[in-house]
Amino acid sequence: MSQTYHYDLFVIGAGSGGVRAGRLAAMTGARVAVAEEYRVGGTCVVRGCVPKKFMVYASEYSNHFLLSESYGWSPVLATFDWTRFITAKDVEIARLSGLYVANLSKAGARLLYGRAVLKDAHTIEMTGDDAGTYTAERILIATGGRPVKPTALDGIEHAITSEEAFHLPELPKRVTVVGAGYIAVEFAGIFNGLGSEVTIIYRGENILRGFDDDVRRHVAEEMERRGIRIILGSTHTRIEKTDTGLVNHLSNDTAFETDQVMFATGRAPYVGGLGLDAAGVALNAVGAVQVDDYSRTNVANIWAVGDVTDRINLTPVAIREAAAFVSTEFHRKPMSFEHADVATAVFSQPPIGTVGLSEGDARKQYGEVDIYMSRFRPMKTSFASKAERALVKLVVEPDSDRILGVHVVGPDAPEIIQMAAVALKLGVTKAQWDSTCAVHPTLAEELVTLREKSTPTGLSFG
Ligand code: FAD
Ligand code: NDP
Repeated sequence: MSQTYHYDLFVIGAGSGGVRAGRLAAMTGARVAVAEEYRVGGTCVVRGCVPKKFMVYASEYSNHFLLSESYGWSPVLATFDWTRFITAKDVEIARLSGLYVANLSKAGARLLYGRAVLKDAHTIEMTGDDAGTYTAERILIATGGRPVKPTALDGIEHAITSEEAFHLPELPKRVTVVGAGYIAVEFAGIFNGLGSEVTIIYRGENILRGFDDDVRRHVAEEMERRGIRIILGSTHTRIEKTDTGLVNHLSNDTAFETDQVMFATGRAPYVGGLGLDAAGVALNAVGAVQVDDYSRTNVANIWAVGDVTDRINLTPVAIREAAAFVSTEFHRKPMSFEHADVATAVFSQPPIGTVGLSEGDARKQYGEVDIYMSRFRPMKTSFASKAERALVKLVVEPDSDRILGVHVVGPDAPEIIQMAAVALKLGVTKAQWDSTCAVHPTLAEELVTLREKSTPTGLSFG
């Protein structure tokens, strides 16, 4: 490595991708610096996956309490202490962030606190605690994304995003969630489970665009069954602040009052003011850092991984892109991360696990496909009067018999899909899948006992 520069690798951003790259590169003996302007751990640890999952856990208790009555328990008269929960959550997040700091330092990477801005392709200017000018042979951009709110909307300053939702001073009694993607449905479930009155406002025809249509219908129905109001085909015309709350004025000419309006209308790559122009780094059509399969930008010594490249915006993907970069550049073993068949979970209530193609996408790519699907009452809710339903679905390519997609909605769906993803990634056929003996009694066994093909009208919703 060159001694001309302060560092062999300078990583901008200590989130999922940046920390992994910084740690792995430092372990090869390279001189590595990792800059962080906010908190080590990034979105996932500080204001994403991890605190969100704690909130999901907290919110699930109300449903457990209800269900317990069907098993003979007396009614649970529990109350929820928002402040106590938020404090406990913040203590754990601080502990986890500390672990990331310790691991970076154990690996020999130097952590620099403050904002990093590129001055040219090898020079970084830092402001903050570790202000100064640093040079590096290689630079990795891992600055993540930021929530997007429609800035032109009258009253938008009264609305929050997921960033603030983790630190609200109190649990709102009435919450309006705008959008119907991952964050919207997850937070709608969280607030609903914690006892808030929740309304989703979505511009499209059904929630979770991009997911399998049966999954979308099923989850919408289950969310409504749990008391979440879903208003489709509508957008805000303005948000009005009154003495008693916030009034949503909608394009369908209705208005209603709420206590918090949370916009979950997507995230954008965090590239503003980063000095990409000065370094000559190009963006793509959607404003993300443009990279090749090896995460290299158009500038030979600059790479980018994670949400800032807007490929698949998930933590494990950022981590794998980072590891592939280090393998290629520091171990001289060229490696690119394959973005096909990445499993994903939505921690809605009930949760979703999905891997591979939706039925719609499979039909577009393969023409005819076979569908195996079942909707049923999960055993755990057998005694409940208002029982929830689970859904399992397989999408199969008839000629090769290869399974193209696996979709699960119901308890433990995210856990189930992780294992299904192994088989799908290895190119499992339906016959091989069926040769697997069931584990009984489980929800997952329904996936290996699907024998009858479904017709398009095979299942009834509503
Ligand atoms: P980030 O983790 O965002 O890290 C970027 C870091 O760079 C940040 O710490 C930032 O402060 C720092 N930074 C930015 N600019 C600078 C600068 N100029 N100088 C210094 N530091 C800088 N994914 C999942 O897989 N599962 C989930 O359940 C899940 N839940 C989520 C829930 C929410 C509410 C959100 C918002 C996201 C969730 N995600 C989830 C997505 C996941 O968090 C991201 O895909 C992941 O964090 C991306 O990692 P990254 O390294 O690209 O960026
Ligand atoms: P998504 O892209 O998933 O969803 C955005 C939603 O907002 C969509 O319903 C979209 O509608 C809607 N929307 C976008 N712009 C507007 C607008 N101007 N007015 C009204 N509605 C609008 O983004 P999220 O913010 O939910 O999450 C960002 C990413 O973070 C996810 O895509 C995912 O990669 C990651 N994430 C992963 C999680 C997990 O793994 N469990 C959890 C949370 C986040 P339309 O569909 O019509 O475009």
